[in-house]
Formats: sequence, C-alpha cells, structure tokens
Amino acid sequence: MIILVLNSGSSSVKYILFEMDGEQCLAWGLVERIGDRGSILKHNRHDGHTTKLAGDIVDHTKAIEYILAILLSPNHGVLTDRSEINAVGHRVVHGGERFTDSVLIDGEVMNQLHDCIELAPLHNPHNIKGITACRGLLKDVPQVGVFDTAFHQQMPDYAYLYGLPYILYKRYGVRRYGFHGTSHRYVAARAAVMMGKQIEKINLVTCHLGNGCSSAAVKGGISIDTTMGFTPTEGLMMGTRTGDIDPAALLYIMGREEIGIGEANSLINKHSGLQGISGISNDMRELEEATAEGNERAELAVNMFAYRVKKYIGAYAVAMGGLDGIVFTGGIGENSSEVRRRSLEGLEFLGVELDPEANEADDSDERFIDKGGKVRVMVIPTNEELVIARDTLELIR
Ligand code: AMP
Repeated sequence: MIILVLNSGSSSVKYILFEMDGEQCLAWGLVERIGDRGSILKHNRHDGHTTKLAGDIVDHTKAIEYILAILLSPNHGVLTDRSEINAVGHRVVHGGERFTDSVLIDGEVMNQLHDCIELAPLHNPHNIKGITACRGLLKDVPQVGVFDTAFHQQMPDYAYLYGLPYILYKRYGVRRYGFHGTSHRYVAARAAVMMGKQIEKINLVTCHLGNGCSSAAVKGGISIDTTMGFTPTEGLMMGTRTGDIDPAALLYIMGREEIGIGEANSLINKHSGLQGISGISNDMRELEEATAEGNERAELAVNMFAYRVKKYIGAYAVAMGGLDGIVFTGGIGENSSEVRRRSLEGLEFLGVELDPEANEADDSDERFIDKGGKVRVMVIPTNEELVIARDTLELIR
C-alpha cells in the first residue's frame, strides 16, 4: 500500500510518500513560494538522491501536479504510474466540533470542511485547496483528512469552555479546541510503549515545543486538557506568539497605541513570545547562544519560556490526579537540553529526576533522560506524517 501524505499551507505544500508494508518513507519534499516568483520544488528520495526544480507554480493544483510528476520521473522518482498511489492523507488544521477523528473525504465532508474555515481562516482554506486539487488530479484515489484538533475533542466541557457568556459558545463555537493533536497522540502512544505500560493506565504530559508550542494532559490515552485554545495563540510562550495573556491587557494596549484588530492580531501572533521579549530572535538556538554570551533579555526569554512549560506540567499533574511521564518533542523539545533542564528544575517533589548526562547526550532517537524514578522523562521525535499515513490506511481498509 502506497500512501501520499500532504500538508498544504498558504504558499507551500509538503509531501511524503510512504510504503506502508514496512512503513518506509520512499520520498519526501516540499514546494515553496507557490504563486510567487521563484517557486521551487525540493525533492528527496530514500536512497539519498536529491533534486530541485524551479517552475511557474501558480497555485496548489500546479504544486501537486509538480509533486506527482517528480514522483513519477524516471530520473528522480519512485513510482511508474499514478495508480500506484492507493490513497492520499491530508493534514487539516481545524476540524471544529464536527471532526473528532480522521475521516474519508466525500462531497458532504467537503461542505463541512468549508464550514470550519471560519474557525481557522489562516489555515483551513489552504488545506482545502490541497484536497480539492488532489480530488481533481487523482480522481479515483481515496482522500483522508486528519485533523490537528481531533485528538483534543474528548476534553470535558469544564476544561474546554471559557468563562464567557455561554451563548457565545453556542453562537460562535468559541471554546478551547487545541492543536498539534496528531503530534501529542503519536508521542503519547510511543511513550507508553517505551515505558512498557498500557496507555489506558498512565498519565502523561506531552510538551510539543517547536515554533508553535503546546502541552497536553493525556490521561489514559485521552487528551483531557491542552494549552492551545480557540486559536493556537493561547498557552505556552512561543517563538512569536504571546501564549497566555490577560485579554484586558490587550484591550488596554489597543487603546493606548490606537491600533485595530489587524495590528493587535499581528502583535500577539507575530511580534511577541521569544522574539518580543528578547528583541533578538524567535529561534531558540540563537537565544541560547545569546544567553551564553550573557545577554539578559535572551536569558529572560528562555526563562519565561521554560517557566510556562513547568507551570503547565504542574497544573496537568493535578488535573490528571497524578503523573507517570513527561514527553518532550518538537524542534526545541527534541534538541534543547537547556530548555528541558530549566523546565524540570525544582520538580523533584513530583518525582521528576532528570539525568543530566542523558539530557545532554547528542542523540536523535527516542530516549529516556531521567534516572528511572517515579516519573519517567522522555525525548520522542514526533512523526505527524506517519500518523496521517496510518490513519489513511486504516480508513481505506
Ligand atoms: P519546529 O517548529 O518543530 O521545527 O521547531 C523550531 C524550533 O526548534 C526553533 O525555535 C529552533 O530554534 C528550535 N531548534 C531546532 N534545533 C535546535 C537545537 N539544536 N537547539 C535548540 N533549539 C533548536
């Protein structure tokens, strides 16, 4: 079974082609700068062969045509015929309350996906463009949607509701949805395997720390709470997003600075977080370098970042009534021993004992970084694409 996984963004489409019998990745790459001058396709084949292709890639349909062409190319490809692709799995950011699981896409589902656009106007329209293009180009091939929000759809109402008038939830669907669900689901399942426990019997805090960051309380394999909310802005501090903030503080700033909704949106999503505090960068690597050189604002940004991670570990341990494991994933979670160290400092009273040597080890595989005490601490590279491919396979079967 061959599954193509697509992640369609505003100006890019990422792809991975899997042979599912051995869950082997045959080829992967991305098309960048769609609709812009200088659009380009970067392609990698499993044997190490790589190639770049420049072209006039005006829209998502053209981008996917390029992807199919390179996958079929005698020189760079891995397929001989389009019919070898058994199904396509699409990442979809927002599934609202409608999609609690991955879904086989038909006309009715397309309509419902359009209904979810209002909730994620920056992401869903591009995901839908990718799906529409594929439905046109690969007519008889089943398409599956896998949602970032789905894993969090079993949260209890007292965790997902905001303290706003209830009518606003009913009228506009304003509530916590949570994101990064595919990643939290993957690492939680891996953690249970690593710990040799049944996932139904353990409480995990999973920390996805990348450019976007979120933590989830995974109790018995179910996400019962998560830090991102109605939008991905809430919760942990991120590269350029505020994370938690007093909503009245934003109203106050809007008044004092005389800015409107658009600028306020840009302020909290593009100019805040690590970037806003440090004034240097949104990139944790650069901040760690600056911290080592004694830059105080970089130091403050890293401390704020780690403090929020720690605070939610504590909150979620309480929400779940106990804690068995903590997982770090995402670019920062997987690579920054410094952030992990700061995030776990002082949590010994919970039974968290970091092993400094294991934490510092230069290793890209999944691993334990604790001393083997009550609460296990793990670094697990995430693999959202594999989850999408697995869900797709399951649905077409
Ligand atoms: P992601 O969105 O998952 O690709 O993660 C991006 C973030 O990971 C950026 O803030 C990077 O600075 C950070 N990152 C990647 N590699 C490292 C590293 N070796 N040390 C610290 N941060 C890293």
